[in-house]
Order: sequence, then structure tokens, then C-alpha cells
Amino acid sequence: MSKRIVILGAGESGVGAALLAQKQGFEVFVSDKSVIKDIFKKELIENGLAFEEGGHTDLKIMNAQIVVKSPGIPDSAPLVMALRKKGIPLVSEIEFAAKFTDARFVCITGSNGKTTTAMLIYHVLSGAGLNVGLAGNIGTSLARQIFNNPTKDCYVLELSSFQLDGMYNFKADIAVLMNITPDHLDRYDYKMQNYIDSKFRIIQNQTKEDCFIYCLDDENIVKGLKERKIQAHQLPFAYGQELESGAFIKDDKIVFNLKGDTMSVFMEQLAIQGRHNHYNTMAAGIVARLFQIRKPLIRECLLSFKGVEHRLEKVLKVRGVTFINDSKATNINSTWYALESINSNIIWIAGGVDKGNDYAELKEMAGKKVKALVCLGTDNAKLLESFKGTVPTVVEATSMAEAVSKAYRLGDKGDIVLLSPACASFDLFDNYEHRGRLFKECVRNL
Ligand code: ADP
Repeated sequence: MSKRIVILGAGESGVGAALLAQKQGFEVFVSDKSVIKDIFKKELIENGLAFEEGGHTDLKIMNAQIVVKSPGIPDSAPLVMALRKKGIPLVSEIEFAAKFTDARFVCITGSNGKTTTAMLIYHVLSGAGLNVGLAGNIGTSLARQIFNNPTKDCYVLELSSFQLDGMYNFKADIAVLMNITPDHLDRYDYKMQNYIDSKFRIIQNQTKEDCFIYCLDDENIVKGLKERKIQAHQLPFAYGQELESGAFIKDDKIVFNLKGDTMSVFMEQLAIQGRHNHYNTMAAGIVARLFQIRKPLIRECLLSFKGVEHRLEKVLKVRGVTFINDSKATNINSTWYALESINSNIIWIAGGVDKGNDYAELKEMAGKKVKALVCLGTDNAKLLESFKGTVPTVVEATSMAEAVSKAYRLGDKGDIVLLSPACASFDLFDNYEHRGRLFKECVRNL
């Protein structure tokens, strides 16, 4: 008798998991609380996959032998609690899909920098001719890629803490932990420790054959390291200290050192700039070296990576004022790095849905660099209160067009207008991409 699998959530990862499960001989049922997008519904129908939408039918779900849960569904959802109580295993799409490939896994997690680092690693490994896939939080789901073409040398996976929470037996051959700063604490009982533990699941099941790359400058990572015994080969990266194994900064260069076998790149030659991107490059370069790619090729690929849309993306210069789109900065830490990376006067557009932000962490940086703040959100009270007195000019806007035009008027030749909201986008926009696209459109219309 075939095993019954229930898939909760019919987005890209859910539909990918359904297709793969069907191919592997499972009896599949897909259930989504909301309306399923047309493209996914069409696929389910075309492949004869049973599904429901607009709600969950307990009877059709509670008889599953295994459930694949979308990372968006919290543990506190009544259905999830009922499944747990009945002892039915709940896993993420990655955990399920990974069983059906022999490829190696390079996995990246962290509060910020996951997408940039994952794409940079993919850029280097594919540039070196490896047959590599990119999945996780990005683009085509791992399940769908394995369904389409199971033969890859390696997959680069961007993993959020929510995905990691649904992973138990999965093992990363190379695990990369970028940083751990407060984010999504609403899903972790508002306890930082729970969030740190979740991020450290990236190294679960690793043995001494595997590698663990992490940022040694991050105090929460250092705390997490002290709390556990690390089995894997450790390759840290850091700004302030020379390391025997790993990556570090020396004389304007990033040095990659594998037990004395070194190579380096000049930081100013990188197409992506800012201290945070130096960290991202350090992590990616270590991975590349572990794949034993030729040094000149690694250097060429690291230097040629142009960055990712909505992450400190240069849009346009209008009468001497440069506009930068950092719409993906949805928390304090990412905005801190954005402000730090700019060495001109900044007109800063910020605001949106605040996930419990402590703006005190940005005050010193804003005080040094920001000449005007444009608050863009439906409720700007906290932002206004936090920066009054720190930033010389603070104004409000209720639409992107208004924010861009006010910022432009406040700018002088040589200034930078930076959209780096430090907040989620759902008050005025569909998502951060929508916010970033509108910003670029308004800038082009100036
Ligand atoms: P994630 O996938 O973790 O959200 P992204 O690469 O999409 O990370 O970047 C999200 C935001 O964080 C962007 O504003 C980007 O400029 C900033 N950022 C990128 N890398 C880092 C890093 N290593 N540390 C802090 N902020 C970063």
C-alpha cells in the first residue's frame, strides 16, 4: 500500500513536493487554507493531484503518514498542534526532497545576507563549471528541481529559520551561518535563545567529514558555539583577526586561508560594496576553495558578482543625487549595514511595519550620516519619536511617489537617497519587491 503524504500549503515548495512525492509513489493530498494561485492549481489538476483550497479538512489530513508543511505556517496553528499530538511527522519540503538526491548540499542561513551569499556561491560554483542547483528560499523549489532533473553535483540552499525548524535528518555537507540578529521573534516566543537554537540547526547531523563556515564577529554565533560541541571542520571568517583556517581582512584585501594555502582579493575591486558584502564574499570564497576551484577563477567570479535586486541596488543619478534601492532591508541590522556602507550625506527613506524594532541601535549611525529622514508608513509615530533630535530634518510621506519627491527636494549634489526601510512592507505595499519596484519607477519619473 502506498504511503499517504499530505502537503500543507500549495505554493512553489508545496507543489514541487507534491510532484516529487507522486513520482516517488506516494498517495498525495494537497491542502491550502487560502485560494491557490492559478498557475499552481493548473499544475495540480494537470497532474491529477488531489487538493483542496480555502480551508483544511481534518479528516483528509489526520490520516497522513507524513506531512510536508510550508514554512509560513506557524507551530501555533491548531492543525499543526493536532498533527503533533497524534505523532504524525511534520517536515519541511527540503527535508522531504533531499532524500531523493545524492548531490552535495551547501546550506546558507543567517538573519541577513542569505540570498546574496547563496547567489554569490552559486555564481562561483556554476562559473567554475559545476553542475549546481540553487534552491531553498529562492526561485524554483528543491523538490521541483529534483523532480525535473535529479542529477546535480551540488545544491546551494538558502534556508530560513522556519525551514530549518522542519528539518531533522537532513545534513549539510557545508553549512554557512552568516549572522544572528533579532528577527521573527514573534515565531520564537520572543526568546532570542530559541531563535539562535533554530539557526544552529544548520549544523545538525554534521560529522567531522563536513564543514561549518561562520562569522566569528557575531556575538550570538559565538554564544551558540560555546553552548554546543561542533563536530564539523570549522572555517570561521572575521574582520578583526587573522585566522589560520578561514577568511579575514588584511591590508585592504580579503584573505582566504586554508591551513596556510592562501589567496586574496582586493576589496575595492569587488562589484558589491559595504562591510556586509565583505562578509558575504568571505563566506562564498571559503566555499569555493573547499570545492578546489582554481584560484584565478574564484577571484574572477567573486569580483564579477553584481549583487541582487533590492539589496543596495544603485538605481539612477538625478542631477547629482544618487538613488539606492535597499527595499529588502526589513530589519534594523540590514539597515545598519546599508547606512554604514555609504560615505556621503544620506537622505534616508524608512518605515513600514515594524517587527518590534529597537531604533536606538541605529541612532549613532544615523546621527553621523543622515541629513534627512523621510518616514514612509501608515504609522510613523515610533520612527518620528526615535530620530527627532538625532537627524536634522524629519518629514513624513504617505506614498512612495511623495517620499521620493520629498527626498529628492531635500538632496544636494553628491547626496545619496537611500530606501532602506528597516521594516516590513505590508502596510502600503504587497511585499518588499513591490516596494522596491515602485521606488525605482518613481525615481525614473523624477
Ligand atoms: P536575506 O536573504 O537573509 O534576507 P539578503 O541577501 O536578501 O538577505 O539581504 C537582505 C538585506 O540585508 C539587504 O538590505 C542587504 O543589503 C542586507 N545584507 C546583505 N548581506 C548582509 C549581511 N551579511 N549582514 C547584514 N546585512 C546584510
